[in-house]
Amino acid sequence: MVECSLCQGEKVLLSQRGDLAHVRRCECQSPCPVCGDEGYFYETDEFGYRNAVPCTCQVLERRVKSFNDAGIPNRYLDANFGRINAGSNAQDMAVARQKAWRFAREFEPGVQGLLFYGSTGTGKTYLTIAILRYLILSRGVRARFCEFMHLLSALRASYGDRGKAEDFMGPLVEVPLLVIDELGKGRGTDWELSVLDELISKRYNAQRTTIFTTNYGIEGPGAPSGEEPVAEEPLLDRVGVRIHSRLMEMCEAVRLTGYDYRREMGQRSR
Ligand SMILES: [Zn+2]
Ligand SMILES: [Zn+2]
Repeated sequence: MVECSLCQGEKVLLSQRGDLAHVRRCECQSPCPVCGDEGYFYETDEFGYRNAVPCTCQVLERRVKSFNDAGIPNRYLDANFGRINAGSNAQDMAVARQKAWRFAREFEPGVQGLLFYGSTGTGKTYLTIAILRYLILSRGVRARFCEFMHLLSALRASYGDRGKAEDFMGPLVEVPLLVIDELGKGRGTDWELSVLDELISKRYNAQRTTIFTTNYGIEGPGAPSGEEPVAEEPLLDRVGVRIHSRLMEMCEAVRLTGYDYRREMGQRSR
């Protein structure tokens, strides 16, 4: 079969819609070439009866909806494992990319999450979205992306209204894979930390997988051994001991930094 020149066989097309990345069925799939959008087709069984069989386009339809509900920001529209450019932090990126790819391939609900940490602009969010895109579109996993600051402002907006807060929090607790981007950013008031603690605890207790990214450094128990802190301030100081130790239990910490790679290579062999 000749591959579609619009989607290169991916069956979907990506575009921007407002601040979010949006996906739709490619023209080659609309209407469905198998069932003409009936949602099923007929197969004759061994006894000669014609039975309705659900068409795979229904699976694609669910994945498209799932992607569009995931809250993926449009600036990462092209995030894709195939396009990752290692750049100046080649060594860290090569390791992080491999871990991310394995995570995406082997994901099952409840597996240990990932915590990408390191200075800004090193590709943490990009890698995370590449994971989401693969899991949602290729494996049909339900997932949500959430910026930490955005999460806090949405919760502040619902402050005092228990029903509204639960409407917002409920899906974040339930979704099989949640991404919290830029953890630790912001003022970190007691109220913010207690809300974060509640969300993380609920997911932890329900054994749901969470991926975090943070610009702050990881030190102490759970940090990869022999690593220097990568940011001015450790994440521990931003989120407190309780949340930090839970994060270390829930996630494998993966370093991504561009700043000390060449310096390290020049000064010592590893
Ligand atoms: Zn196509
Ligand atoms: Zn179909």
